[in-house]
Amino acid sequence: MNLSELTLDRKGLTAALACEDAAFEEALCQEAYRVKVATVGPEVYLRGLIEISNQCVKDCLYCGIRRSVRCPRYELSEEEVMAAARVAASRRYGSLVLQGGERADRKFTQKITRLLKAIKALDTGDDPPLGITLSLGEQPREVYEEWFHAGAHRYLLRIESSNPDLYRKIHPADHSYDRRLRALQDLKEVGYQTGTGAMIGLPYQTAEDLADDLLFYKELDVPMVGMGPYHPHPETPLTLSGVPYPSAPKRFSLGLKMIALLRLLMPDINIAAATALEILDPRGREKGILSGANVLMPNLTPPQQMVKYNLYDRKTLNASDVQGLTEQGIPIGYGRWGDSKH
Ligand code: SAM
Repeated sequence: MNLSELTLDRKGLTAALACEDAAFEEALCQEAYRVKVATVGPEVYLRGLIEISNQCVKDCLYCGIRRSVRCPRYELSEEEVMAAARVAASRRYGSLVLQGGERADRKFTQKITRLLKAIKALDTGDDPPLGITLSLGEQPREVYEEWFHAGAHRYLLRIESSNPDLYRKIHPADHSYDRRLRALQDLKEVGYQTGTGAMIGLPYQTAEDLADDLLFYKELDVPMVGMGPYHPHPETPLTLSGVPYPSAPKRFSLGLKMIALLRLLMPDINIAAATALEILDPRGREKGILSGANVLMPNLTPPQQMVKYNLYDRKTLNASDVQGLTEQGIPIGYGRWGDSKH
């Protein structure tokens, strides 16, 4: 396939995702990088990622911290979260992401509220207070409101797959696609810059499904997307089912092409180079940036807990992600929120 033949409709996106020609992929990623620089600028914005807890009430069939997996559980103390936030402030990251397994108990939701207020009050010198993105799953609208008023202004909730049938195949019966959609709608209405995304290279997933994921982001008109390759976790039902999924090189290539196609489809949004890219290639996130992503999330979780946030096997995770970009001459938006221009 030739780049000049690419169309950004379902048929064209599907053809691009199914095309395994390396020269096409390279041309596509280069074009997406060009569009990114021309539209949102050359800077990469940072969000220090704090994985606050691996306790989860959900039982997603692909996830290594699902309720039913027997693994050591942790919850960072407020002081540990604040210590990580102070590191983000001292390195002038500009923003934080607080991510964790889903919990709806009041003790947890109130702790998040207290943390948000404390992080907003942190001394950041001449920089604005740290911007805060949350990624804490489905919550009642009142909780989204409480957290928004306490200082969070962005929220990432992946749809995981925009195909309701595929969504049903990778979740237990008590999880609901419609409830997830409702939560995304609530987040938008409360006022968050709302992000979503899907896993790439899942069992059962087709090139058409991935094209539909891209069109779903466009239809929902989201200002930010965080999507990344699927990695099998050895103890999850999805892996144990034996249903095949694309090879690691193919998932990586699909991951980059999804970023590039999304940049062409929605030129002015924020797109994250997901941690999951780094598992498949030591320079994975950097390659994501060079394919059109403009947000990077350096991990600030204390190392002894980070290894327990085991969504999938993370042994190969590389910590020096920002350095790779600097070495390439890619500017970093230090001390800035880097909100979506969309
Ligand atoms: N609980 C929150 C939620 O559900 O949105 C946030 C935490 S959840 C662990 C963060 C993301 O991890 C999910 O949205 C999912 O896409 C991703 N994830 C979980 N298991 C994965 C796997 N095996 N491979 C790739 N990504 C995975």
